[in-house]
Amino acid sequence: MITATGKSILKGIAIGKVKFFKKEQAKISDVVSDVETELKKFEEAKKKAQTQLRALYDKAVVEAGENYAAIFQIHIMMLDDDNFVTSIQEIIKNQKKSAAYAVKTAGETFAEKFASMDDEYLKARAADVRDISARVVNILTGNDKNFEESDEPFIIVAEDLAPSETVQLDKSKLLGFVTHLGSTNSHTAILARSMNIPALIGTEISEEWDGKLAIIDGYNSCIYIEPNDDLLQTLDKKRIRDIQQRALLQELKGKPNVTLDGTEIKLYANIGNVSDVGMVLQNDAGGIGLFRSEFIYLHSEDFPTEDEQFAIYKQVAEMMDGKKVIIRTLDIGADKQADYFRLPKEDNPALGYRAIRICLTRHDIFKAQLRALLRASAFGNVSIMFPMIISVREVLDAKAVLEECRRELIAEGVNIGEIETGIMIETPAAVMIAEDLAAEVDFFSIGTNDLTQYTLAIDRQNPSLDPFYDSHHPAVLKMIEQTVTAAHKHECWVGICGELGADTSLTETFLKMGIDELSVNPGSILNVRKTIRSIDLKR
Ligand code: PEP
Ligand code: MG
Repeated sequence: MITATGKSILKGIAIGKVKFFKKEQAKISDVVSDVETELKKFEEAKKKAQTQLRALYDKAVVEAGENYAAIFQIHIMMLDDDNFVTSIQEIIKNQKKSAAYAVKTAGETFAEKFASMDDEYLKARAADVRDISARVVNILTGNDKNFEESDEPFIIVAEDLAPSETVQLDKSKLLGFVTHLGSTNSHTAILARSMNIPALIGTEISEEWDGKLAIIDGYNSCIYIEPNDDLLQTLDKKRIRDIQQRALLQELKGKPNVTLDGTEIKLYANIGNVSDVGMVLQNDAGGIGLFRSEFIYLHSEDFPTEDEQFAIYKQVAEMMDGKKVIIRTLDIGADKQADYFRLPKEDNPALGYRAIRICLTRHDIFKAQLRALLRASAFGNVSIMFPMIISVREVLDAKAVLEECRRELIAEGVNIGEIETGIMIETPAAVMIAEDLAAEVDFFSIGTNDLTQYTLAIDRQNPSLDPFYDSHHPAVLKMIEQTVTAAHKHECWVGICGELGADTSLTETFLKMGIDELSVNPGSILNVRKTIRSIDLKR
């Protein structure tokens, strides 16, 4: 039995045969019979590639949402790029080479040009150029079937998966995936989360695993190849228990989040995309407690416009049909980087230029988002939340920009709904001045992920610090309690939207502290509800 570890994207067990995904190297002949025929072949292959990409776009919109799908529109446009097309045509005409050879050569040249650029965003485009030229070459060489049909469900193991590859996978057969490359914000990880299947990234993989039986253990962040019978039986039982538990939880739909002694708590869900709203509704969440709006920016190739953002926020507000939707303003920086922001390289990015610090110094970016949010507020129950707050000054400044946007929109005759404003409590500074902050806002949402990082001085991105990381550290729990007490003095309600909110071993502790709301990933809603309903605070 071989064991390899990685970074787990989703807790769960997948058992099945490995399908090792290797990008096929098409055999390309450079012999050309007739220049005109090759030029025509190229034109037809390009059109076919664009048709395929359009189909992939439609499939991706349904399966993973608009933001994820946008990459295929970019690929379609890249295939029409004048420089790219002309350079292919010239290789065919001047060098008298085949269309496939010309596409491959031009693709490599363009990809290398991008790869050598200093700008991180442009550098990353090299992979897109390779992806689209491989598609056209595969069409030209009759090799355009990347994933063979499979009757059996499988676990995909790959060096990396391009968006166009992941979306082609037959999802009904996909049990999980394991890649060497990719980050927690990679398309692969996003897809795993949206599909709710176990996945590991950053794993040392081997082609020799192909066809072998494997288990992904998302709880322990590892994959076992050819597991022994004992392990297979144990983890299969765990897998079946997971399925049974999920089924049992279904009966809690429609039931209130109320303890045995009658204390009621709001139970909301965290999302990063419009496409997550389906899961929120399916799991009967009372609202959205955290919409990480930066994912809109992370999946865009450039700053999303006010209108683009408005369309997304409006859609979410309408889908939630009057239920609360708390949208956090842009929390970019640190581990969440979008190249077009051109943020400076920092020695300590987690302590750096991020979130509200960017918004308060880049009013152009901030106002586009706030205007979009205010416009969307007319279509549902929208609340606005500011992240990474450390001072009252920041809250006042952020509210002043919000007010400026409101006045502008009213002058433009735009309808605006009732909104609550709140802040994330995720720095020790915010905890210490919670009483002053509470006087300025309607609600707090405690971001335990960052609050733990800043309280314990432990970089949340650094896996080698895991042995020192104690998510139940008394300092963090005291901070939460202190925040609740301070907030309630000003009738400011308090929720938790960090990962700790879904930790059911702490639910009773949080309820005793007086927490008003928990916001967890949609898949954890019913489990947390079950725990709430089993607690007796009077006991
Ligand atoms: C947090 O810090 O707990 C939080 C919810 O925000 P994020 O994980 O997006 O930083
Ligand atoms: Mg945070």
